[in-house]
Amino acid sequence: MHFLPDRLQQYLTDHSENEPEYLTELSRETHLKVLQPRMITGHYQGRVLSILSKIIRPERILEIGTYTGYSALCLAEGLPPKGELHTIDINEELEDIQRRYFEKSGYGKQIIQHVGNAIEIIPQLDMQFDLVFIDAEKKEYSRYLEVVLPKMRAGSILLSDNVLWSGKVIEALDPADKATEALLDYNKMLKEDQRIETVVLPIRDGLTLSRVRGPL
Ligand code: SAH
Ligand code: CA
Repeated sequence: MHFLPDRLQQYLTDHSENEPEYLTELSRETHLKVLQPRMITGHYQGRVLSILSKIIRPERILEIGTYTGYSALCLAEGLPPKGELHTIDINEELEDIQRRYFEKSGYGKQIIQHVGNAIEIIPQLDMQFDLVFIDAEKKEYSRYLEVVLPKMRAGSILLSDNVLWSGKVIEALDPADKATEALLDYNKMLKEDQRIETVVLPIRDGLTLSRVRGPL
């Protein structure tokens, strides 16, 4: 969810860049055919991811949680011609729709899909990343962080999505609500981890931007 009144959120979207046509199509197809379409990064946050990626100019991006590929395609917009984006999802049923839109977008050759559990796949990737986007299982965010940080060079950027979890992070904790509990731990971990510096942005459902410490 997002936290602003609908009309104000609409105003922000209307005064931000348009999404490419293939993303409008992907959004439509996701809502028609795929389970849990509310997980998709929409127009507004998509443009935030796109412009951040263009500012960062990453040669290599890692995404944890592809879903139907919307956020991957937004992040790919910041890749130089020889850059690449690795994206991981545990659900193999999503692979076809992802691939179709990756090809349609023109970024097909630069996007590498991995099917499986990110916690097992990341340690096997023998490479460093300049930009990482964490958006898979909320209960596992802390574990993703531990496996991914050793793959990030000084100055690289980590984005973590849904960190405010519809505002549940400031409500009384229901002991059965493991996702909120995990996000509370994760947000604390990002703040305290001396390897990174962090700022939480109130974009959509909360998007944290962290930078791996090192020379500017
Ligand atoms: N980034 C997407 C949305 C991701 S939804 C977008 O913005 O459009 C979360 C995805 O994480 C789901 O597709 C789910 O299958 C995947 N996922 C859950 N646990 C995972 C794991 N351990 N490893 C990799 N992917 C996982
Ligand atoms: Ca998300």
